[in-house]
Amino acid sequence: MSQKILLSGNEAIALGAFEAGLRVASAYPGTPSTEILENISTYEGIYAEWSPNEKVAYEVALGASFAGARALVSMKHVGLNIAADPLFTSAYTGVRGGLVVITADDPEMHSSQNEQDNRNYAFAAKVPMFEPSDPSEAKEFVKLAFQLSEEFDTPVLVRTTTRVSHVKGLVNKGEIVTSKIKPGIEKIPEKFVMLPANARLRRKELDKRFVRLREFADSFEHNKTEYNDKKIGFITSGISYLYVKEAFPDASVLKLGMVYPFPEKIIKEFAKNVEEIFVVEELDPFIENYVKALGIRCKGKELIPAAGELNPSIVRASITGEKSTALFEPVKIPNRPPNLCPGCPHRGIFHVLSKLNVFIAGDIGCYTLAALKPLSAMDSCICMGASIGNALGMEKALGKDALGKIVAVLGDSTFIHSGITGLIDVVYNKGFTTVLILDNRTTAMTGHQPNPASGQTVKGDISTMLDIEALCRAIGVKNVYTVNPNDIEETYKIVKQEIERPEPSVIITKAPCVLLPEMKKRKDKSLYIIIPEKCTGCRSCLKIGCPAIEWVPITEEDAKKLGFKEKQKGYSIINAALCDGCGQCVTLCKFKAIALSGDKSGKR
Ligand code: SF4
Ligand code: SF4
Repeated sequence: MSQKILLSGNEAIALGAFEAGLRVASAYPGTPSTEILENISTYEGIYAEWSPNEKVAYEVALGASFAGARALVSMKHVGLNIAADPLFTSAYTGVRGGLVVITADDPEMHSSQNEQDNRNYAFAAKVPMFEPSDPSEAKEFVKLAFQLSEEFDTPVLVRTTTRVSHVKGLVNKGEIVTSKIKPGIEKIPEKFVMLPANARLRRKELDKRFVRLREFADSFEHNKTEYNDKKIGFITSGISYLYVKEAFPDASVLKLGMVYPFPEKIIKEFAKNVEEIFVVEELDPFIENYVKALGIRCKGKELIPAAGELNPSIVRASITGEKSTALFEPVKIPNRPPNLCPGCPHRGIFHVLSKLNVFIAGDIGCYTLAALKPLSAMDSCICMGASIGNALGMEKALGKDALGKIVAVLGDSTFIHSGITGLIDVVYNKGFTTVLILDNRTTAMTGHQPNPASGQTVKGDISTMLDIEALCRAIGVKNVYTVNPNDIEETYKIVKQEIERPEPSVIITKAPCVLLPEMKKRKDKSLYIIIPEKCTGCRSCLKIGCPAIEWVPITEEDAKKLGFKEKQKGYSIINAALCDGCGQCVTLCKFKAIALSGDKSGKR
């Protein structure tokens, strides 16, 4: 009897890849895909790496495939935009060892800057795509994807969404099935060198392959019909299948496990057997458009929302028009606005920048939260690595008037991901942009994955540590500074000086993320307190937005009793359980009411 284990979709993908004889895995962290590589890295005999960005990750996996090894590359949906270049051409070259590409989409944008529907990439790149509905299917589909990849000589996309990635479900442990392809070097330039003459021939191969894939889709056992009440029939895929089953348990359903190419015969057959068809899918009308193109009447996005996540209640209410159809009561949890952690080394920088009143071209990372109150210190944020290019573009548009008024801010991992090229552009095209690299020694936002500047690999092996300061100098930046961002006065001085400089500058603010294990364990942590008798209630310390600083409102009577001035409306306290001892708040209080706790225990 096979062993059943409880796994998340991401853990199941890792297990499926292991059982498929995976040899090489690469990724760039991004929610909701991050745990795939983290789990793969725990299996013996698989090379796993965090790559500097998704394009490199794709290229590493493709190279491994060219060498005849089974390879997997995973990323969040927006990551596939970065990797689109090698993806499209690899559809032409095809593979040797099976190549599986996981794209983890994020409907509802739980942790993303947009909610693109990456099924469109399968269509545009002309590669097959599987879409599992739960962790068990996620594992099986990954195994099947490796087989399909080798059988059809193509990369295979597997699309998950946040729910499938993170929900836990029972998964069968299975046999390890290895590839028949023998790893080794084979020179096949007509297949791997995409010079126009070769690419034109491979384009024809792509079309032939596509015809075979369409036939396969019609015989694929996971494109399955479930006939019940034939008055109403649903065509669906992925997590939407489970929502349909819960909202309409008695209806007939055609569930697509392979969403591209479309299984025309099955769709036509299903349409003949049911009276009315509804297409239920998250985000774009991807299946719906195809069903309509087959001349089949169906309803879809005119009823089902095209934005955000679905759930059984939304599906039921959209189709029946019923108002109150909550099929389950969501658990009520208190609102907790997102905030930088207490002691976060980024907080002080944004306080400095808001004092300087500059346009802050921001980027993707924890520090994007600085856009929120009370810091309100980010003015643009587009995609990984865009801050420097955005700042340079503004500067070029405004000329000398921009001097001292614009900065670019991005993290260490983001700089390595794709900020480097922007900085090269600043130097090459004679900009004067000031770039702040917030180096907290990790990729914090996605859960503290190491990066080339952290000096260790995903397996925890010690590696060469990228010297960001030396790199910036090598790019051609003459003015490079490294500052401690917890020292607000010094940081302010350097930033003020550099933004006025009519030349490119880089300021690296270097202090480890307070949630790194070594930071959490440190014994010499200082704690700060507010001396009540010195606090005037001016609220200046609240401007930094540290969650450890709390405001206690008081009445006139309280003020008298506590020995404050009659008019004082309240006073600040520091929550000892939250304070991380960064000391950033100290310089904010001109009444010297914030001081180191005497016994360092935080007790007063
Ligand atoms: S601690 Fe200092 S800055 Fe904060 S409210 Fe009191 S006096 Fe003002
Ligand atoms: S020292 Fe001040 S700013 Fe730093 S964590 Fe403690 S209360 Fe917050």
